[in-house]
Amino acid sequence: MNNLPSAMMAVTKQEPTPGVVIRDVPIPVMGPDDVLVKVQAVSLCGTDVHIYNWDAWASGRMHPPLTIGHEFAGTIVEVGSNTSRVMPGDFVSAESHIICGKCLQCRMGQYHTCQNVKILGVDTDGCFADYTVVPENNVWVNEPTMPPHLASVQEPLGNAVFATLVEPVTAASVAIFGCGPTGLCAAAVAKAAGAGLVVAIDVNPYRLDLAERMGAYVTLNPMEDDIIEELKRRTDGNGVDVVLEMSGSPAAIQTGLKSLRMGGRFTSFGIPSVPVDIDFSEIIFKGIRVLGVSGRRMFETWYQTAALLKTERLNLAPLVTHRMMLSDFDNAMHIMRSGMSGKIVLTPDGM
Ligand code: ZN
Repeated sequence: MNNLPSAMMAVTKQEPTPGVVIRDVPIPVMGPDDVLVKVQAVSLCGTDVHIYNWDAWASGRMHPPLTIGHEFAGTIVEVGSNTSRVMPGDFVSAESHIICGKCLQCRMGQYHTCQNVKILGVDTDGCFADYTVVPENNVWVNEPTMPPHLASVQEPLGNAVFATLVEPVTAASVAIFGCGPTGLCAAAVAKAAGAGLVVAIDVNPYRLDLAERMGAYVTLNPMEDDIIEELKRRTDGNGVDVVLEMSGSPAAIQTGLKSLRMGGRFTSFGIPSVPVDIDFSEIIFKGIRVLGVSGRRMFETWYQTAALLKTERLNLAPLVTHRMMLSDFDNAMHIMRSGMSGKIVLTPDGM
């Protein structure tokens, strides 16, 4: 640990209660298969809101004390003795799902559904700190010229790439329900992949404006528009080819199924907080493919994401609406919970 301080600032969950504690903690200890990264930028995710609020999901899953956070970009400062693919000085981000490599799904190559998955900043110490440790296997080496605030948001962008491109969307009509960061990214990805129609739907005008800047051709607000009617009108009465459900809202899920054409694809990404009452016969008689999507394919999605970013057809610039210091975390969380933000990127105060 040459030239490294002995302690660092970290955003931690100390007790099983709402909120966070910002405090000095020891620099995390690295194992032989890990790398130590000096963090340059981190970004807030909906998962962090669940953790901050300490809702039923967070309290059922997490075991404080723990440093939180799982989206970041930074520079490797040390590598473990078993590592071989990366080296100090590499500018990196990371897949946040740490897989076991041994369960049925891992052995079948379905790593994103590993039954023993550990999530950075949820099950292990995360990246909302000056330094973070991740397994070499999870490291994604970025283009050195990529700005850290955009490199950090590749991880959630990957959610949108997986959800949108799980089946082709070229020339397809795509309706995105929910314009949080993942829905916003999905609009950009659908456009970049050549969708014929990209409709973004949300009740929040601020987010609809962002969706338009990200690539949505049309925005609709269920408070003002008849969504099913509007989507059918724009598709010769057929309904859309693809619904990307990013909101988790029971009403959006029901409307989405009704808005799909016969034989359409329904991708379910938003997580409902309550059981949803749906008419299953609609799925059967319309021949709808319902695809549940979580995480990213390891590492196919990362290669797709990097390739899309290289084309410059994917315009991420409007996505990051706020940039703040990590010590201003409570304020950042307040903005995020208000719904008046896209992605919020934080810089560790030591940078
Ligand atoms: Zn596994």
